[in-house]
Amino acid sequence: MKFSNANSKIQALKNVPELAHYLENKRKVYSFDLLSGHSCPFAKNCLSKAVQLDTGKRKIKDGPDTEFRCFSASQEVQYTNVYNLRKGNFDELRTMKTCDDMAYAIAHAMPDNAGIIRIHVGGDFFNFKYFLAWCKVAIDNPNVLFYAYTKSLQFWLRAANVDAIPDNFILTASRGGRLDHLIDEHNMRESVVVYSESEAVDKGLQIDHTDELAAMPSNKNNSFALLVHGTQPKGSEASNALKLLRKNNVKHSYSKKPKKVGEN
Ligand code: SF4
Repeated sequence: MKFSNANSKIQALKNVPELAHYLENKRKVYSFDLLSGHSCPFAKNCLSKAVQLDTGKRKIKDGPDTEFRCFSASQEVQYTNVYNLRKGNFDELRTMKTCDDMAYAIAHAMPDNAGIIRIHVGGDFFNFKYFLAWCKVAIDNPNVLFYAYTKSLQFWLRAANVDAIPDNFILTASRGGRLDHLIDEHNMRESVVVYSESEAVDKGLQIDHTDELAAMPSNKNNSFALLVHGTQPKGSEASNALKLLRKNNVKHSYSKKPKKVGEN
């Protein structure tokens, strides 16, 4: 399994004073990714997958309720190395039967100089054992900060009920999934995809341009907004919103092609 170097959006965490101590002594920000959509059991409005065709090429396949297309699934269609890396991670984890096996494999693959880990630029917690595996990795590495967005809300709630989530594992509920009702029922901290800056203002939410609101432990109980980004289905509300953001020159797209560990 392989971790990836942080993309340009996540790299900006280096400039956040609250997070500086996690990156002392040349420690770095990494992500760990799985195949988008395929590993997201509760995705709904964002659901898209890169699917392999007989020709060897890949194409994007939207789900029945897709309203804003998954950005990382689009990347997996575009970049073969990204697709292969994420598929490799997902395939390997799925062969493991226990939480301990998964935690061991993740910890073994984690770079020694990891300071901050974004779990899943692509992918989600695909079962409870896997969620607990990350809790275990975070408990065993208290000097590393782990953070994740998730639509696998029932795993989060289950783990929280047994106090399995340590302070260095920061979670954000991502609306647009099949379990959205749990966000309201349990008043979970969430990120909301908005189509304009004014929509964020109307909702009383700060926009996170750099992932800092998602990652900072001091913000772990505050919800925030994300501007719609990526490649959206033609003619959709999301696609029209993106056009408008571009026209108005609003910063809304952050990531370049993700790099593999060891790539320059
Ligand atoms: S949950 Fe995240 S990774 Fe999965 S399909 Fe939705 S946006 Fe993509």
